[in-house]
Amino acid sequence: MTSNINIQKVTQKTACLTHWEFRSNAGAVMLNNYVVVIDATMKPLAARVFRKKVEAQFGVPVKYFILTHCHSDHAMTLGEFKDTCIVGSEQAARKIQQLKKTEWSKEGLERWKQEKPEDALWLEDVEIVIPYVGFNKRIVLHDEGRSLEVMYGGGHTDCSVYAYSPEEKVLFAGDLLLGKAFPFAGDETVDPEKWMGVFEDWLSLDFKKIVPGHGSVVERDEVEKYLLFFKALKKNVQDVISAGKTVEEVVVPEFYEVPEDFMWLKTGTLRGFYEYYKKSK
Ligand SMILES: [Zn+2]
Repeated sequence: MTSNINIQKVTQKTACLTHWEFRSNAGAVMLNNYVVVIDATMKPLAARVFRKKVEAQFGVPVKYFILTHCHSDHAMTLGEFKDTCIVGSEQAARKIQQLKKTEWSKEGLERWKQEKPEDALWLEDVEIVIPYVGFNKRIVLHDEGRSLEVMYGGGHTDCSVYAYSPEEKVLFAGDLLLGKAFPFAGDETVDPEKWMGVFEDWLSLDFKKIVPGHGSVVERDEVEKYLLFFKALKKNVQDVISAGKTVEEVVVPEFYEVPEDFMWLKTGTLRGFYEYYKKSK
């Protein structure tokens, strides 16, 4: 597996790992004296190798780890960074605290291994760590004239944050954006209005590249595409709700195709929008 762990240069001082095999992406930005990692895939071994390669490439150690949100495909690799300062939203810290006592307890992870034997091997390496620093609005890391802005966004989940490097002009989006893929809006805390607000905020920033939560690195036009899709889907969902129709009757605006194995993602997204706008009607 480690042979696939090739880090990709995004700009001079940013890097990522986007191989599908590791289930979610890893991102990194070098400031001056240290590196900040933003998510590190789902699998601890990939996270460990990513860290080593990034430290070797930039010649400085990882000092901060930013968790974009609490979903299991992003939060299983914090153990590989427990010697760094792990930062997430206050909501993510609370949620992981809860999960550590339930689904992600020792017994919970054992159940997961039994239910999905294909995950058993890498789950052995998982250590659940709660972010050490929780924030509500914004944190800025400064290092001799270079910086990383970490902003609370909400939207995809109520614990979603993203990071922006003004010097490298790179956004690290977490699952607020998937590279050339259909979004997942099926979390019970989803908020499409806040999510569209995040897109508007992004479009007011000066950036060139986006490292998404899943999929390939994309550019600014992907945000515009996503925003148009969200607006169109919102309209179709509201029409169906006002006509007293069901979620199955929502017309999905043209967007990325969803592979058969990932249909749950599409139905989850439609349900997420439908429930949200039904409540806020
Ligand atoms: Zn997610």
